[in-house]
Amino acid sequence: MRRCPMCNSSRVTNSHRKGFWENFVLPLMARRPFGCRECHHRFYGFSFGSRTRKRMGLVLLVLLLTMSAAWGLWHMIDTMTAPQRPPEAAPGTRP
Ligand SMILES: [Zn+2]
Repeated sequence: MRRCPMCNSSRVTNSHRKGFWENFVLPLMARRPFGCRECHHRFYGFSFGSRTRKRMGLVLLVLLLTMSAAWGLWHMIDTMTAPQRPPEAAPGTRP
């Protein structure tokens, strides 16, 4: 049974995820926000339910896509801004 770290009450409910930290960072650590019905303390607890696992997979997928997109963009910029070398004159030919 999950208990509130502040008042030790067992009247703890799942709290909605808010913001970037709770939506994208906490799931990677298998944690989610909980709220105490007694003292209204909000805390992060360990959770490995199917929803947390799904969210973790989603976050990993988004991370992977973002990383590959960033790499693709970087590669594109790199090839676009690379100095264009003038074609070198073949040895033995006159201009
Ligand atoms: Zn409490």
